[in-house]
Amino acid sequence: MVPNNLTPPVLVRPNINGLQVLWLQELGIDRLWGKPLLPVTGGAAVVKHQAEAPARPSAYIATAKVSGGPPGQPLPATPHEPVTAQRPSRHFARVVPARPPQEEAAPTVVLRPDIGHLDWPGLRESVANCTSCSLGEHRRQAVFGEGALPSDWMFVEEAPGEQDDWHGQPFMGKAGTLFDNMLKAVQLQRETVFITPLVKCRPVANITPSKEEVASCLGFLQAQIERVQPKCIVVFGRAANLLLGSNETIDVLRAKDCFINDAHGKQIPVVVTYHPNHLMVAHADKARVWQDLQKALRIVRSC
Ligand code: SF4
Repeated sequence: MVPNNLTPPVLVRPNINGLQVLWLQELGIDRLWGKPLLPVTGGAAVVKHQAEAPARPSAYIATAKVSGGPPGQPLPATPHEPVTAQRPSRHFARVVPARPPQEEAAPTVVLRPDIGHLDWPGLRESVANCTSCSLGEHRRQAVFGEGALPSDWMFVEEAPGEQDDWHGQPFMGKAGTLFDNMLKAVQLQRETVFITPLVKCRPVANITPSKEEVASCLGFLQAQIERVQPKCIVVFGRAANLLLGSNETIDVLRAKDCFINDAHGKQIPVVVTYHPNHLMVAHADKARVWQDLQKALRIVRSC
């Protein structure tokens, strides 16, 4: 039978294990794809889902697609909507927007020729001793980040919190515990991914870092990305606005295919999602984070 537009979509069951079932049940999702949640062995469903996933856009094409949806419902098979082709910028951070009116320029990276030649320990030491912006005056210690080197996965949050500032590690405290559970839900752990804040020093009273402070610190993130070489970068909450130079809401950015260019112009997919701090008060959004992690998983597996 030749498929046509009238052919109903094929329902695909997710390939999930018992741990993921518990995670989904915690999210309040009892049924997925119209069937009860049960652990499934074998990877056929996921492979099929990946096969149906659209190919990554070419270097000059931006696409926008809806990836969010009601909890417990399959992702809608919305075709990509091509928009005006643009040449990639040599700037480090840049989102290629589908609808640009609300966009603002991405922060320009302050070039750091002093760190380009550094090895990993040298880069860590450079962050620890940095006083390039005012955030360095009030920190207990800079938070360099932790995890695997290299890694397919990179997670970026806005800035260290109080606990992070105290311990010198990202994602500490209750939000960190929730983050660990998010990783487990997609069979990851801290030791197999790389986690780092966008700015390495805690802003006083956790205020959002200024554009100048972000620009001062982006050189470190750029250096980390070059060394970690992630296939996908998951960016939490406000960090997405700062990194991508966008004023759009997290929900709008979640629905887009975003990229940043590394120092060599290579595009790295960016998946935007909610910060674990947000999830601790907005439990319903856990289901959307689950969708975002599945999207990131597809990207990593397709690379
Ligand atoms: Fe340096 Fe970044 Fe800390 Fe500013 S936030 S002092 S640029 S490490």
